[in-house]
Amino acid sequence: MKIILSILFCMSLQMCTQVKQPEKSTSMENSTSKNNPYYSRTDRTKLDVPNSEWKKILPEDVYAVSREANTERPGTGKYNVYDEKGDYYCAVCGNHLFRSDAKFASTCGWPSFFEADKQGTTYKRDSTYGMERTEVLCKRCDSHLGHVFNDGPPPTGTRYCMNSVSLDFVGDSEKDAK
Ligand code: FE
Repeated sequence: MKIILSILFCMSLQMCTQVKQPEKSTSMENSTSKNNPYYSRTDRTKLDVPNSEWKKILPEDVYAVSREANTERPGTGKYNVYDEKGDYYCAVCGNHLFRSDAKFASTCGWPSFFEADKQGTTYKRDSTYGMERTEVLCKRCDSHLGHVFNDGPPPTGTRYCMNSVSLDFVGDSEKDAK
C-alpha cells in the first residue's frame, strides 16, 4: 500500500510539473490582425475597403475610433504611458506609422509622437466640434488615428496625438525573437 501511494504521489508530482505555464506575453498588439485578410506589415498598397466590410472584421472599439473618428477617453489607452522600444503599426491594416524613438511623455492623456512615418500617414482638415484641427489618417487604409498639433517638443515642435486603440505595437525584442 505504501509503495502504491508513493508511486501515485510521484505521478501526481510529475503531472504537476508538466503543466505548461502560460507563456509570458510581451505582445502589446491589438487583436485586429486575427481574421483580417487586409492586415500586412509589409504591403503598403492602398486599400479601398468599405466600412460595411471593416465592421465585420474589426473589434467594436477599434471600429468606432478608426472608422468613425471617435476618440478614446484620455488616460485610458494602453500606449498612453508606455515606453518600450519598437514600432507602432496601424491596428486596422498593419501599415507602419511610428517608431518608439519619436514617442514622448505627454500630459494630454493620449500617446504622443513628435514625428510620424511619412509613408504611413496622411492628413485631412477637420473642422468638427467648432475647432480647426488636422486629422491624421493611415495612408494605406484611411483609418482615423488622431490629430496633429504644433505644440510638440524638439526637434520638430510637432505633437501627433494618437488613439491607442488605432495602434498596434511590436517590440524590438519580439522581432529579434522571431
Ligand atoms: Fe491602416
